Amino acid sequence: MASKSSSANDGSAIQVVVRLRPMNEREQRHGTVPVISAKTKEKVVTVVKGKGRKQLKSSYSFDNVFTAFSSQEEVFEETVKPVIADVMRGYESTVFAYGQTGTGKTHTMEGSLERPELYGVIPRSAQAIFECLKQPQYKEHVVKCSYLEIYNEELRDLLVEGKNSHRAKLDIMECKDGGTFCRGLTEMEVRSASDVLRLIQRGQHQRMIGETKMNKASSRSHSLFTIQVDGKISLIDGDGDFDFTGKLHMVDLAGSECAKSAGNDKSAPEAVARERERMNINRSLLTLGRVITILKEKSLHKNVNARIPYRDSKLTRVLQESLGGRCKTVVVATISPSITAIEESVSTLNYAQSACGIVNKPFSSSSIAFGEMPNFSDKKSSGECNIESW
Ligand code: ADP
Ligand code: MG
Repeated sequence: MASKSSSANDGSAIQVVVRLRPMNEREQRHGTVPVISAKTKEKVVTVVKGKGRKQLKSSYSFDNVFTAFSSQEEVFEETVKPVIADVMRGYESTVFAYGQTGTGKTHTMEGSLERPELYGVIPRSAQAIFECLKQPQYKEHVVKCSYLEIYNEELRDLLVEGKNSHRAKLDIMECKDGGTFCRGLTEMEVRSASDVLRLIQRGQHQRMIGETKMNKASSRSHSLFTIQVDGKISLIDGDGDFDFTGKLHMVDLAGSECAKSAGNDKSAPEAVARERERMNINRSLLTLGRVITILKEKSLHKNVNARIPYRDSKLTRVLQESLGGRCKTVVVATISPSITAIEESVSTLNYAQSACGIVNKPFSSSSIAFGEMPNFSDKKSSGECNIESW
């Protein structure tokens, strides 16, 4: 195992980027002028609300910003590719896609598996890992993948096939050293990027079966694809070999709008089930936000004694070992530029901004109209909160 003290991660362990997608046809019918724009060079996203003298502008800075014209390749090269170098030296890293349903989370993480130019982060990471393993310093290696779904705080193995596979629930176990693992989770060995593509497809299929049987939509569950590399590297100065284990987790989160109350009659059985789903999503997205914010603060030597609430959701519990310390975390927040989604997009920007730790720079005092800055670390670690009014 590589010594974690030698990581190059110091100071930039958490990266928050925003990706704007192009307007779709439905949105264009409500107006073709985008109300949210992105400037890649300045790394700023600007939101314009209202018209004429009542117009309000608010700008948000991030570690990186991608426009509707940014390609899958650009997003990968600038966000995840640098993280892979660490994975290939024995570190754990996690990439999250956060945002409203329909804004491009799955496009960013998986993309189109039929068109290589549209491959998302998972297939591109697999390609980069196998490319890296061709280098002569990598001697022996085994690459394994797992694919997990978290729905209603229950874990399901997406690589298990069969009639009742949607019922095969997994437990999170604690190791002696305080780490966690999923008991019984399938780890499939892969020998090429094409093998990884096949596993994504298998997982997608299993997810679909589960959805029909359990009457749910994929937007209401989190999916977690992990690539683990166990290998041996020979040191450049000929000073022997060392064994390493690197892991890359790629998480397509539940739609952020699913965490909000629809305000309907909550007594009908279907509504009761929806409300339970909603509260679980709310809890996991908020916990993730808090965990990232506290880690960011600690990395800046603030709030050093704060407890990191990994245990407050299954998602953060499963990823406990991979968030914090010297592990790298990338959050890709996806938004639509359209007026029809402005409230949801502002909510996503606020969430991402809070995780980013950069102070919002409002153009006008009226930025309050978009909601106060969320502050995950101020809240109690349990209980119900609405991420929009955070
Ligand atoms: P989500 O997973 O957030 O619900 P999807 O990734 O399924 O959203 O995206 C919804 C639709 O928008 C898909 O048809 C997808 O191909 C398209 N889309 C999303 N982001 C982009 C983008 N950056 N460029 C082009 N099309 C996109
Ligand atoms: Mg999706």
